[in-house]
Amino acid sequence: MNAEWNIRACAATCIRCQRPFADKEMLSSRLRFTPEGYLRDDFCAACWPQRGQPDEEVSAWAAQWHAPEQKAPEPLKKETAESLLRELMETDDPSKRNVIFILAVMLERRRVLAEKEVQIQPDGLKIRVYEHRQTGESFVIPDPQLRLREIEDVQHEVMDLLGIPPPPDKNAPPPAENESKDAENSENG
Ligand SMILES: [Zn+2]
Repeated sequence: MNAEWNIRACAATCIRCQRPFADKEMLSSRLRFTPEGYLRDDFCAACWPQRGQPDEEVSAWAAQWHAPEQKAPEPLKKETAESLLRELMETDDPSKRNVIFILAVMLERRRVLAEKEVQIQPDGLKIRVYEHRQTGESFVIPDPQLRLREIEDVQHEVMDLLGIPPPPDKNAPPPAENESKDAENSENG
């Protein structure tokens, strides 16, 4: 597994002393860039000062741990920008890189994700690290540095995937009215 993007959830135990975190406990987290890719470490307050490999740290932050809630099953599975982003990040498909990035930008604007860090890798690839405001997960997403024209194309692709109809095209002829009128008449008659 060596995808250029990934999601890293908060651990349930301290990586150093292995103690399970308590609900509402303050912990410290960091993201490291290693030869194996991005790794996330979560520490209890006592272990944080003892951590090693500070030179590999891309981002470090404090967070409050929340015990996972028992989720009620969702009656209706509706595709949202977030569920689509998660699905695409499960894949290793490089052709989805642009869509993944645009979805992340959308979710940042909606204040679902918060940008924590921007990193330039040795090969020049720009990486953006986002934090999910609710779950505390880290989203590591490469920035394809799209041009404006490309952004519009990708936005259309995203709308398609989300099943959102495109905005009306000014150049397109107005929709035919005959059909709907006929339908109304037959209903009345
Ligand atoms: Zn610890």
